[in-house]
Amino acid sequence: MKKHNFNAGPAILPKSVMSEAALAVTDFNNSGLSLLEISHRDKAFIAVMDEAQQLVVELLGLDDSYAVLFLSGGASSQFFMVPMNLLAHDQSASYVDSGSWASKAIKEAKAFGNVNVLGSSKKDNYSYIPKDYTVDVKEQYLHLTSNNTIYGTQIHEWPEVPVPIVCDMSSDIFSRPLPIEKFGLIYAGAQKNMGPAGVTLVVVKKELLGKKTSGIPSMLDYQIHFENESSYNTPPVFPIYVSMLTMRWIKNNGGLAGMAKHNEEKGSRFYNELDANPLFKGAVSVNADRSLMNANFLPVNPDDENPFLDVCKAAGIVGLKGHRSVGGFRASMYNALPLESVDVLISVMRDFAQSRG
Ligand SMILES: *Cc1c(COP(=O)(O)O)cnc(C)c1O
Repeated sequence: MKKHNFNAGPAILPKSVMSEAALAVTDFNNSGLSLLEISHRDKAFIAVMDEAQQLVVELLGLDDSYAVLFLSGGASSQFFMVPMNLLAHDQSASYVDSGSWASKAIKEAKAFGNVNVLGSSKKDNYSYIPKDYTVDVKEQYLHLTSNNTIYGTQIHEWPEVPVPIVCDMSSDIFSRPLPIEKFGLIYAGAQKNMGPAGVTLVVVKKELLGKKTSGIPSMLDYQIHFENESSYNTPPVFPIYVSMLTMRWIKNNGGLAGMAKHNEEKGSRFYNELDANPLFKGAVSVNADRSLMNANFLPVNPDDENPFLDVCKAAGIVGLKGHRSVGGFRASMYNALPLESVDVLISVMRDFAQSRG
């Protein structure tokens, strides 16, 4: 049966990317060798790395003032690499606590400098994004999480602040155009919207690098990775290759504006059904903060939870169960999820409501 993949991460990737990636595992570029058994210094792989970097530049519209890095260690390693590289002990940075990933980033940063938590929605189970804050010009940066994967909230209006924004975009990178000049650093673990687990994209303003000159191990130093074109050590070759293929697919499908249009259509169809269907309610308390990537919702009657998951399963829908810390349902609708899958989910929700009279 055809599957409709609503997994939150690792998550759906374009079908065409999967078949090309499968081919590269057995015979890469008609070389008679697998991509997995050649050197990362081989010119065939260097071409992959160069194209991946170039696609990030094109898709995000970066000028030469930004460095593009492909690192390992997941987005979680960026929680400490960011302050380790950008924050000295006598300096201070601002953070917004919009979810458990943000709160993990805050915890790690405290080991490196002063951390000002400007707002938190924790008391309300992270059901909205804190917005009423001002950032002091003396702060090194403002750390935001653009999309709170677990709670289904997303920043739709970027704040006006006098310092560079550092942003965890793990679950909505490449889903929409960005006002790139606001950002000093963007990071994203690949496995939600960009590729397989194992590589993390970091885009950083070169002027932020190289200021802290001691106390950074080489492998954790952005400057070293930049100087070595992300190949200071063996990079995660396969996740980089598949991410490159996904970025090509994004480019061929209208770039970030094309992705945004497609994601807005999926989101508006889904949320219209959610608001109209008497058996379900949204989990996000402020509608303006609803995410187009992860839609969190609940059964009005808690007893409906398992029966609804059963009818979803029968329709080929997978990955709809909410995160273990919040329960309910979560429909993840990343770039590669086709409109058709959203329509199938909507019709299952309608049929479920009808069957309950
Ligand atoms: C998944 C996720 C992370 C953690 O990513 P890892 O690569 O597993 O470390 C961090 N931030 C956000 C927003 C996420 O969605």
